[in-house]
Amino acid sequence: MKSPQLGFVLALWLKSAASIEGSGYSNATIDVDVAIIGGGSGGIHSAIQLKDAGARVLVLEKKDQIGGHAETYINKETGVVNNIGVSVFEDTDVVKRYFARLGVPTSSVSASPPSTLYDFELGIPIPPPDEGAQQAILAAAKAYSQNVLSKYGWLDQGYFLPDPVPEELYMPIGDLAAKYNFTALLPIMARFNWHFGNQTKVPALYGIKDFGPDFLRSTFGQLIVSGTGNTRSLYDAALKELGSSVLLSTTILAVNRHSTGVTLLVSQNGMVKTIRAKKLLVAIPPTLQSLKSFDLSRSERALFSRFSSLGYFTGVARVPGWNSRSLANVGAFTPFHQPLIPGSRAFRATGTPDEFYFGVGFPTDQVADEDGKAVVRRQLATLAEAGAIPAAAGDAVTFSASSFHMPFNVRVGAADIKKGFYAELLALQGSRNTYWTGAAWAGHNSALVWKFNEGTIVPAIKEDLGLEHQLPLSWNSHLHLTPWMLTTISGVKH
Ligand SMILES: Cc1cc2nc3c(=O)[nH]c(=O)nc-3n(C[C@H](O)[C@H](O)[C@H](O)COP(=O)(O)OP(=O)(O)OC[C@H]3O[C@@H](n4cnc5c(N)ncnc54)[C@H](O)[C@@H]3O)c2cc1C
Repeated sequence: MKSPQLGFVLALWLKSAASIEGSGYSNATIDVDVAIIGGGSGGIHSAIQLKDAGARVLVLEKKDQIGGHAETYINKETGVVNNIGVSVFEDTDVVKRYFARLGVPTSSVSASPPSTLYDFELGIPIPPPDEGAQQAILAAAKAYSQNVLSKYGWLDQGYFLPDPVPEELYMPIGDLAAKYNFTALLPIMARFNWHFGNQTKVPALYGIKDFGPDFLRSTFGQLIVSGTGNTRSLYDAALKELGSSVLLSTTILAVNRHSTGVTLLVSQNGMVKTIRAKKLLVAIPPTLQSLKSFDLSRSERALFSRFSSLGYFTGVARVPGWNSRSLANVGAFTPFHQPLIPGSRAFRATGTPDEFYFGVGFPTDQVADEDGKAVVRRQLATLAEAGAIPAAAGDAVTFSASSFHMPFNVRVGAADIKKGFYAELLALQGSRNTYWTGAAWAGHNSALVWKFNEGTIVPAIKEDLGLEHQLPLSWNSHLHLTPWMLTTISGVKH
C-alpha cells in the first residue's frame, strides 16, 4: 500500500488536533531515534537497553504508570504488599542482569506446593498429591524435557518456527502430552501459567512456549522475585532512569510510517504533540482494537485480525473472619484436573488476616469487572456451603483492589500456526521502520519478552540505527539459530 504524503497527513492531524475540545496543540516537535509505544514489560526493558546503546528513546504509555501487568496492592493499615499481577520471574541471567542494571535487589523463592485443594465449582475437597503422584509428576517432567524440550527448547527465543511447521506444534498440548508421556505435568503447567486456556484445545506451541527449559528448571528449583517484595520496584527504578523519556497518560492519535521514519501525533493532558522518530517499536498487544490509530497495511491488518485472547481478572478481596486461609482450585472431574473456566485459580492468603488474593480466568476478553466479581462471589458461596471458609462469605465479600488484564494470551489457532502465521508475523519486523515486541511475540512471561528483546529486537534496531551491537553470549553460544532468527538479527529486511 502506498504511504500517504506526510504533509497531507500532518495537515489533517493539525486540523483534528485543533478540533479536540480543550486541547492545546504544542508546536514543539520531539525528535528521537526510537519511539516506543507501550511502557510495560517489553517496552520499558527495550527502552533501557536502547538508551544504554546510545539511542534517544521516548516511551508513550497510555496509563498513569509504567509496568503493564505489574500491579501492586498495598494494604493501607497493615502495609502488606501484594503483587496482583506479575510476581515471579525465571531464574536466568537475562532477568538478573536487568534487575542489577536498575539497582533493584532480587531474592529466590521455591515454588510452594498448593495449599488446601478444593473443586471451587462443586465444593469438593481434593486430597493433596501423595508420594506416588509426586513421583509421576517428576517422571513426566523428565519425559517432557527429554522428548519435547530437546527438540523445541529454542522456542524460548521466539516463534522462529521451521517451514513446514511440525504437526507436534499445532496439535493440542494434551495430545502431545499423551504422545510423550507427560500428562502428569499438565496440571503443573496450568498452575504456573495461569490463566493458560483449555489444555485439550490449546496448540502445543503455546504449552511449550509457556513452559520452556528455563521455566521448567526454575519451577522445580528457584524462581526470582523482587527483593523488595514489590515487583513495581523495578518500574519505579526504570521510571527514574528514563525520566522525561517516558510520557505517561498519553493517547496515540495517529501513526504515520513513511520512507524516512515515523511521525506520531499524541495527546497528553490535553496537549497534542508531534513526535518524529527514526524507528518505531510497538510494545502493546497487536490487536486491531489496540492499533486502531495506526496506518496498518493490508498484510498487518490481515495478520493481526487472526489473534484472539483470554481475560484474566485479579485482585485482593476481604471476607471478615477469613483468617489467612489459602485454597487452590482443582477440577475434580475435568481433563487434567484443570479448574473450570470462567473460574478462579486460588484464594490465597495475603498476609493481612481478612484479605485474600484471587485470580479469575475467562475464555474471552469480552468481559467486565462485574463478571469477574460475580465468579468470585459464586465460588465463595460454594466453598462456604462446603464449610471451607466463613459462612455467607459470598455475600460478605468486598473488593479491596481489582484489575482486568486484557487482552491476555494473544494467540492464533492451530490452522494458522500450520499455515505459517508466525513466519509471516516475524517478517513484519523492521519493515516500515517498525519493530514489534511483547507477549504476543515472545510469550506471556517477562523473562521471555526480555530474552526476545535482547536476542532479536534490540540488536536489530541497533543495527538499523547504525549503533554498534554484539549478540549476547547466551544467545549465540548454545542455541540452534533458525534462518528466521539469523535474518532478523542481521537486520535483513523482508
Ligand atoms: C495477572 C498476570 C500475572 C502475570 N504474572 C507474571 C509473572 O509472575 N511472571 C512473569 O514473568 N509474567 C507474568 N505475567 C505475564 C506478563 O503479562 C508478561 O510478562 C508481560 O507483562 C508482557 O509484556 P508486554 O510488554 O507484552 O505487556 P504489558 O506489560 O502489559 O505492557 C503493555 C503496556 O502497553 C500499554 N498500552 C496498551 N495499549 C496502549 C496504547 N494504545 N498506547 C500506549 N500504551 C498502551 C499498557 O498500558 C501497558 O503498560 C502475568 C500476566 C498477568 C496478566
